[in-house]
Amino acid sequence: MLNKSVLKSLLIRFSGYEAYKWLTRKNGLYCFNYHRIGDCTKTPFDPNLYSCSVEQFKKQIQFIKKNFQVITLEEALLLAEHKLPLNMRYALITFDDGYIDNYEVAYPILKEEEISAIFFIPTDYVDSELIPWWDEIAWMLKNTTKKAFCFGESGTVHLNGSTVDKVIRNFLTVIKTDPRPMDEKLLELKTKLGCEYNVNPRDKSLFVSWKQIKEMKSGGMAIGSHTCSHRILTHIDKENQLLELGQSKQCLEQHLGCAIDSVAYPVGQRNTFNNDICEMTKQLGYKIGFSFTNTVNDLPIVNPYNVSRLGIDNHPSLMVLRQKIVLSGKSE
Ligand SMILES: [Zn+2]
Repeated sequence: MLNKSVLKSLLIRFSGYEAYKWLTRKNGLYCFNYHRIGDCTKTPFDPNLYSCSVEQFKKQIQFIKKNFQVITLEEALLLAEHKLPLNMRYALITFDDGYIDNYEVAYPILKEEEISAIFFIPTDYVDSELIPWWDEIAWMLKNTTKKAFCFGESGTVHLNGSTVDKVIRNFLTVIKTDPRPMDEKLLELKTKLGCEYNVNPRDKSLFVSWKQIKEMKSGGMAIGSHTCSHRILTHIDKENQLLELGQSKQCLEQHLGCAIDSVAYPVGQRNTFNNDICEMTKQLGYKIGFSFTNTVNDLPIVNPYNVSRLGIDNHPSLMVLRQKIVLSGKSE
């Protein structure tokens, strides 16, 4: 057993080490990615998509501002072209999926803090009543009366014995790694769970509208593509990849009257995009593509079609965020 003083000295040593790692953290481009901001206990859908609370978001933005040179999309493009100094710690704030709280909660804070973020929008969901597959799945897992079910080749999925947040998180990992088309997987799930979500037309829209996107853009925010339907690009054929990346760009450009230079690959982990997809992105006229591999980007940026982001999730305290930043300096 460790006595109190040994424990204390270990803690000091550890915190000293951590402070040293923080002070000597790498130069590079640190991209911080958020999904939803707010109270995750109130949603009927996936609670794990909430990156943090409103208060935490404000504190995190202030913390990032204090410790990094926060840049805009335009500056990130210059950085990708090696036209900005390389011996700096840059930060870029991004948001995926275009949930309504991005407009209602995050946008006013970003404006107040004079920070420009990039919002990656899956265009099919704008001004629509569509519910994305991950939220539909979360809803079904929350509302089914079943205690367990067999799914595809993944064996039995148990719904009791763990918190619903964990059940949803674990099952979404199963779904993302199952290479079958999403429609097929959803159909199997509806049958096995014996329930399905029906949109109530009086429900408030889950996603931002074109009007709101335009307002955010004229308020200094940047808008990027997150494809049309948010299907995982490596799970669909080349023709559909081209449609997802090309039509979403075109749709955003038509609505916003400006060039769309950036895309974030849906889900974004290493198995959800590949070199051919990066090349297709380039051919379609995008200038930068964002992934989700939780590492800092060394400068100069080697491949602007695979710019890594750090996911902000699980409501991290500033201490946890700091640790995440330090750890992001390690190679993949
Ligand atoms: Zn997404």
